[in-house]
Amino acid sequence: MTVYSVEDIEKKFNNIISNFPIVDTHNNFPYNLRAQLHNEFETTKEFNFDSLLTTHTDLVKMKEGKIGVQFFSCWIECKDDNMFYQDFDQPNNIVRDTLEQIDVVKRLVDEYSHSFKFVHTADESLASYRDSGNKKISVTLGIEGLHQVDLSLAVVRQYYDLGVRYITLTHNCDNPFATAASSVTGGLPDKGLTDYGKDCIKEMNILGMIVDLSHVSHKTMLDVLKVTKAPVLFSHSSVYSLTKHGRNVKDDVLKLVKENGGVVCINFFPLFLKQEGHDEVTVDDAVAHIKYIVDLIGWDHVGFGSDFDGIPQGPVGLEDVSKYPDLIKKVWKATGATEEDIVKMMGMNILRVWKECEIVSGKMKNKVKPVESNWDQRKWIFYEYCREFPEIFPGAYKIKEKENVFKDTQKLF
Ligand SMILES: [Zn+2]
Repeated sequence: MTVYSVEDIEKKFNNIISNFPIVDTHNNFPYNLRAQLHNEFETTKEFNFDSLLTTHTDLVKMKEGKIGVQFFSCWIECKDDNMFYQDFDQPNNIVRDTLEQIDVVKRLVDEYSHSFKFVHTADESLASYRDSGNKKISVTLGIEGLHQVDLSLAVVRQYYDLGVRYITLTHNCDNPFATAASSVTGGLPDKGLTDYGKDCIKEMNILGMIVDLSHVSHKTMLDVLKVTKAPVLFSHSSVYSLTKHGRNVKDDVLKLVKENGGVVCINFFPLFLKQEGHDEVTVDDAVAHIKYIVDLIGWDHVGFGSDFDGIPQGPVGLEDVSKYPDLIKKVWKATGATEEDIVKMMGMNILRVWKECEIVSGKMKNKVKPVESNWDQRKWIFYEYCREFPEIFPGAYKIKEKENVFKDTQKLF
């Protein structure tokens, strides 16, 4: 192993950072805007994203942390606070609330456009970082759970059009597409990916939407890796062998991720990094998780997905978004890695996965039509008077007759 001095590493880091961005695949800051300000950040005079805030994330700290590309998570809670619920059809406001989170990130990017640019492709995110002389952070979006599409592949497509580039298949609840890690830990069966979930993976592949496997059950991970045509992402997960938590990634899955070409972005939540016998979780535990992945499957499959502002606090030495350079330098010192390997971990792996998803999409789009299927247990309820509308062709009302419920007697006049 090459042993570098602290000065060597400092110099090497300064060499690469202007060309190669640090990418973070998971930051929950938008949720704090929602919960604390109801997204009214423009009219809250105490709010200035360009100043030091008490959150893990603000522009001062992002610049110090040399973030180049940020995936902001647009997370909304599961439909029910009982995480074991299975009534997936219950009425809710989840699509509205998710749209509000997409909106608030876009408004934040607009308001602070001297430092942010909203991007749509992997190439654009890299080019903007380089062309701006590292002055602008490329911003894109992730959705944290398919409960947020509320049963509908049409919503998946529209989120893509709005700029969302990954969807986590579950949060801490099952949904009609997939099984969550937390419900299995809680005692529910691990059903993995459902048939409708397979349809969704196909649609995500067609769109170029990155499939995110953080939060999903072990069987869901295995099932997805069998069917996806594009590399997967774990937007904020760590290693099960070092920290035995149901959310972390087991070795068998890591080996399949290598075959798939995917990337596991290390989560900084101390709960997912704590190693046995360690009283305190520090940046060294994050280094250990990264090193474990590298030793098992190589440098092509590791990245950062902090979960900052979606966790109470980070590890000692990795308290907020300003600390990425410290982590990178520590990994460099501990591994003696080449510059090429370090830039992959910093973010080039994720940009590669993103781009490969775009390429798969480009190939599929010409050959495959959008997936039209609906969840087979969805309720279709209509006003009685709609039956009086003209039939599209003779017998058209008969096609879905068994699934439709006409329960209202409201009249047109
Ligand atoms: Zn999460």
